[in-house]
Amino acid sequence: MTKDIKNIVIVGGGSAGWLVASILAARFKPSDLGIRVTLVESPNVPSVGVGEGTWPSMRTTLKNIGISEAEFIRECDASLKQGTWFKDWVDVGDTPYYHPFSLPEGFDSVNLAEHWLAGTAGDISFAEAVTPQFSVCENGRAPKQIGIPNYAYTVNYGYHLDAGKFAGLLTRNATQHLNVKHISADVTGVLSDAEGYITAVQTEQMGEVSGDLFIDCTGFQSLLLGQHYKVPLTSQRHHLFNNAAVAVQVLTLTRTTVSRDNAIDRADQWLGMGHWLAEPTRCWTRVLN
Ligand SMILES: Cc1cc2nc3c(=O)[nH]c(=O)nc-3n(C[C@H](O)[C@H](O)[C@H](O)COP(=O)(O)OP(=O)(O)OC[C@H]3O[C@@H](n4cnc5c(N)ncnc54)[C@H](O)[C@@H]3O)c2cc1C
Repeated sequence: MTKDIKNIVIVGGGSAGWLVASILAARFKPSDLGIRVTLVESPNVPSVGVGEGTWPSMRTTLKNIGISEAEFIRECDASLKQGTWFKDWVDVGDTPYYHPFSLPEGFDSVNLAEHWLAGTAGDISFAEAVTPQFSVCENGRAPKQIGIPNYAYTVNYGYHLDAGKFAGLLTRNATQHLNVKHISADVTGVLSDAEGYITAVQTEQMGEVSGDLFIDCTGFQSLLLGQHYKVPLTSQRHHLFNNAAVAVQVLTLTRTTVSRDNAIDRADQWLGMGHWLAEPTRCWTRVLN
C-alpha cells in the first residue's frame, strides 16, 4: 500500500478507541496534512466500563489531548493513585508490599536494590528504603498539594477513574475540540482490496465507512484483527490464579491513594477508588474467582 493516509477510521468507542482517536487527532490537528479521524462505535455493544487504575503516563496523555486535570477529576470521579499495595497476594499472611509510582532515589545513577538486598537499610521494605512515597501513602497523604498546577506533582501518581464516565469525557473532548467525527453504528462487515488491505467497514445503520487506515479497538470482539484477519488470541489463562470478575461500586469511608490488592481466600478484592479530595469515597470492588 503506497497511498497517503488521510482518513483514519477507529472501530470501537471504549477507553482504547477514544484515547487513540484523541491522541491522533491532537497530534495532527495543528498540521495542514488534512488528516481526518473518524470513530465508529456500536450503539448496542456496551464498553467494559469498570473502574480502572492508570499508570502515571496518563497525565501526559490527558495534557496532550487538551483536557484540564480539574475537569477530568470532577467528571470521571477520579482520584490520584500513587501505586499499589499488595496484601495477602499469594497466601494469606504474606508480608504486604508497596509498588510505588515514584522511582527509587537516584535511579539513573545507582541501583539501590543491591544495597537493600545486602541489608544496608536494615529490616525495612524496599519501598520504604528507596522512596518517600511509602510514607506519603502510609500517612494517607496526597501526592500533591492543592496549589500545585495541573499534572505536576510532589511524588508521582496516576489515577483511579470511572471508565464509563471517562469514555464520555473523551467523546465530548474529541468531537467538540479535536474535530473527530463520531459515527454511532454497528459494524457488520469488512471490505478489502486485492492486496487484503481494509478499505471500508460496512455498518448496519450508516452504510459503508471508508478509510485509508483502520484501527481495531473493539475489545474482546476483535472485529478486524480476530474476526477478519484471523489473528488468534494468545491466552494467558495458564498464568492466572483467577479468570473471572464481578465489578461493583461500594461506598467506603476508607481514604486511600493506592490500589489495595488483597487476595482473600482465593478471591481477589481490589479497593481502589479512594478519593483524596472528599469523603465518603467510592470504591470499586472486584471479586475474581
Ligand atoms: C474487572 C476489570 C478491571 C479492570 N481494571 C483495569 C485497570 O485497573 N486498569 C486498566 O488499564 N485496565 C483495567 N481493565 C481492563 C480495561 O477495563 C479494558 O481493557 C478496557 O476497558 C477495554 O477497553 P476497550 O476500549 O479496548 O474495549 P471495550 O470497552 O470493550 O470497548 C469496545 C468498543 O467496541 C465497540 N464495538 C464492539 N463491537 C462492535 C461492532 N460490531 N460495531 C461497532 N462497534 C463495536 C463497543 O461498542 C465498544 O465501544 C479491567 C477490566 C476489568 C473487566
